Amino acid sequence: MTASSAPAASEQPSYKDTLNLLQTGFGMRANAKVREPEIQAFWAEQRIYERLSQQNPGDTFTLHDGPPYANGALHVGHALNKILKDIINKTALLQGKRARFVPGWDCHGLPIELKVLQGLKSSERGELTPLSLRQKAHAYALEQVEGQKVGFQRWGIWADWDTPYLTMQKRYEAAQIGVFGAMVLAGHIYRGLKPVHWSPSSRTALAEAELEYPDGHTSPSVYAAFPVEAVPTALARRLKAVGLEAEDSGQMAATGRPITLSVAIWTTTPWTLPANLAVSVNGRLDYSICEVNGGDSLSNHLLVASELVERLEQTLGLGLKPLLTLKGEELEGIVYRHPLLERRGQVVLGGDYITTEAGTGLVHTAPGHGVDDFNTGKKYGLPVLCPVDEAGTLTAEAGPFAGTNVLKDANSTIIEALEAAGALLKQEPYEHRYPYDWRTKKPTIFRATEQWFASVEGFRTAALEAIAQVEWLPASGRNRIEAMVSERGDWCISRQRTWGVPIPVFYHRDTGEVLLNETTLRHIQGLIAEHGGDVWWQRDEAGLLPVPYAAEAGQWRKGTDTMDVWFDSGSSWAGVLGGLAGGESRAPELHYPADLYLEGSDQHRGWFQSSLLTSVAVNGHAPYKRVLTHGFTLDEKGRKMSKSLGNVVDPAVLVEGGKNEKQAPAYGADVLRLWVSSVDYSADVPLGPGIVKQLADVYRKVRNTARYLLGNLHDFDPRPQAEGGHAVPYSDLPLLDQWMLQRTAALIDAVTGDFERFEFYRFFQALQNFCVVDLSNVYLDIAKDRLYVSGAGDFRRRSCQTVLSLVVERLAGLIAPVLCHMAEDIWQNLPYPVAEPSVFERGWPSAPDTWRRPELEPPMATILDLRALVNRQLENCRKQGGKGSAEPDLGIGPSLEAQVQIALADNDHSAALALALAWLAGSPHPGVDNLTDWLLVSALRIGGEPPEAVLAEASAAGVTVRVARAAGQKCERCWHYATDIGQHLSHPSLCGRCVAVLDT
Ligand SMILES: [Zn+2]
Repeated sequence: MTASSAPAASEQPSYKDTLNLLQTGFGMRANAKVREPEIQAFWAEQRIYERLSQQNPGDTFTLHDGPPYANGALHVGHALNKILKDIINKTALLQGKRARFVPGWDCHGLPIELKVLQGLKSSERGELTPLSLRQKAHAYALEQVEGQKVGFQRWGIWADWDTPYLTMQKRYEAAQIGVFGAMVLAGHIYRGLKPVHWSPSSRTALAEAELEYPDGHTSPSVYAAFPVEAVPTALARRLKAVGLEAEDSGQMAATGRPITLSVAIWTTTPWTLPANLAVSVNGRLDYSICEVNGGDSLSNHLLVASELVERLEQTLGLGLKPLLTLKGEELEGIVYRHPLLERRGQVVLGGDYITTEAGTGLVHTAPGHGVDDFNTGKKYGLPVLCPVDEAGTLTAEAGPFAGTNVLKDANSTIIEALEAAGALLKQEPYEHRYPYDWRTKKPTIFRATEQWFASVEGFRTAALEAIAQVEWLPASGRNRIEAMVSERGDWCISRQRTWGVPIPVFYHRDTGEVLLNETTLRHIQGLIAEHGGDVWWQRDEAGLLPVPYAAEAGQWRKGTDTMDVWFDSGSSWAGVLGGLAGGESRAPELHYPADLYLEGSDQHRGWFQSSLLTSVAVNGHAPYKRVLTHGFTLDEKGRKMSKSLGNVVDPAVLVEGGKNEKQAPAYGADVLRLWVSSVDYSADVPLGPGIVKQLADVYRKVRNTARYLLGNLHDFDPRPQAEGGHAVPYSDLPLLDQWMLQRTAALIDAVTGDFERFEFYRFFQALQNFCVVDLSNVYLDIAKDRLYVSGAGDFRRRSCQTVLSLVVERLAGLIAPVLCHMAEDIWQNLPYPVAEPSVFERGWPSAPDTWRRPELEPPMATILDLRALVNRQLENCRKQGGKGSAEPDLGIGPSLEAQVQIALADNDHSAALALALAWLAGSPHPGVDNLTDWLLVSALRIGGEPPEAVLAEASAAGVTVRVARAAGQKCERCWHYATDIGQHLSHPSLCGRCVAVLDT
């Protein structure tokens, strides 16, 4: 139309304006970067979370947050964890529960301490006191907490963000001291030796992060033979069978040949041999007793791992002929003689750390000089022998080797002694990764020092019983934690660090006696509650000790150890949920034990376990009723995300967009949340650009479905007609509408179950199916004509709007736990007043029982099958007549250009359809429930003569469908083909139906 012809247009009405078109402020595009923060501001202003979590009428629900470490940027693992929690909490809130969520952060520990140290110049480091280091660490942790908090909030997570729990808060630290104290008084805490990384060159213990592993470290490795003196009776019998005599007592025969059997070990630290107390084997590996040929070893039989026999023949230059193969577990109890000292040792069962990658498969075990050795030694009650002093010099306990030094002459002296004793099978230099002191650049050793332990043995049975009382989801989680708790050694809870909660103990300056009792514990707990953990460093002994000890403060020295950070976070049931006798929870809605803990599956080893152990030790039961775990995030190919692979998905970029928004658009928090709902998180879950695009498509489908529903309600008043509104009572609704409500009820029931079982991916699938199939492809597709073409107030349209209104309000509720922003956006765009300002105040969607009419499903399914068959034929016609086709007349474009004839064969196949058609024909609302409209064609004939010029024809299951061009002309308003066009003078281009609409 040109500008000059415009005036003429007003004389001829545009029929488009007479249609009831979409009207809504709910955007096609999310505009998430702007809109989501607006919605979050609305929630904050209305205090929606606060009101619901504190005033809901239902039960309390405590999902207790496992604290992330307060360091670094948020990654998708955080998103998976916190969004899962939020979905569960929002569902509980919608269901009327008081689901208060107090978020937490783990704030102490070495990584933060190191961050602070690394940020200092060397001159500043020199001036650092424990207190100033703690203050800097505190400030750093707080800054990290604030940064992560902003990220969590941007994802739409609801929580007590203004009052989170931090493991460095005074009241938290005081509660932790309370847990420690209760364990002390119950006799579960003791002091003992444990090997730690030790630097002889700087005479101090080192943390893992203070070690470096320079290339090219070479150790003087040795293979040595420890002569066997006795074997268990069962083993003796098996040896006898292959001609290795043992007397009835189990003693190896001393007559005839000299000692005949040795266990072969390999070590890269010969200096630890004086500390040898056992030889460990892996119970599951095979071992061989081999006859030795050649060499000048005293032994003529060696015990080695079967897999290593060939390699050892080469390495040792010996012939090894296996005589007998045994499982490692059969070797337990063999007694051998220490080749260098007057001492006997036993073969014991170690763990899976014993492999056949190197050595002999039998591991020289010195509990004072290795962590695995220590743990194995614990199991067998071996002493923690550590004949090495702070400087790395061997002590008198090392016998003839006293005075040698591990960094100097200890190795060579001991190797010579082995050779002299005939116990040396081989020595060779061995290059491997070995820890060095990051400051002195000298090798470190493992050396046992005095540490504080929680004796797991004291409450292991109770812990296992508590595990059995908990519901583990998935159930395999129970096996995992059970196995770990069954096998774990005592828990070393002390650390030689500054940034942590102090172990509140005093040592007598002369005798080393420990002062740790109810009086001192209660006093220190009170001081920390008032001043925080810093008080331990701020005050001297006189200022820390209670009466009567304060008077003799000069005799006491305060300890300098802090607690393992797992003890910090493992005390959160006390610090947050108020699980100590007389303790107070952070909020009245929180309770202990919690309803749910939800973390990554690695926490069976970590937080789930540390929390369980402390809770059982103090109160005899688990701190949780249910434990749900999730897997880890991987890229789309199942690889770990890493900077070097370039496959890291940054949640901040996903939500807010990247620098180049064309390449990295701002998808919004809801797309991130939709991803969380879409994955089966019981295993590891993938995420990458392809997945994000698919999710964005699903998001758009849901959004556009909602937009269509909202857009057709702009003139609808949902009150009943009796009250002046437009809503049609359920009993008066056409079959199509009743079917749609049955589908909606089925969706609500399914999704309610999915959320109860935490199976959100099923919700994700059900939601897509509902929006794409039930709504878009069927109901709304058919409804277009009812909504646009009918008169605004026609029953045909109002009944449809009634359904749209009922559906959209429930759809908003169902998606609210996941797509919380979209749900609220829908709610804010409802074009009529509702009682509840927020969708979250409406509560969890429900359906009246009258909607549940499964009997509507079979006839409808039959008709939808027919519809699919017809659609395929229409599609065939479209292909034939598409643009560029040689014979465009053969085709039809929109389905309204078609008429359809359906012929039923008289057989069983067509019986179901015949019944369905009869059901449809019996509807009291033929204006809606008619197959012509449902097929979106202009005319339909069932039975009778086939139309002329059939364009497509198909048969299936006793039904024949024929498609032909519709008779008549196209109505300019409704685009149906009709034969009565031109009969109406006022509207010569319209069909009779449209004329009637316009004339009313
Ligand atoms: Zn028309």
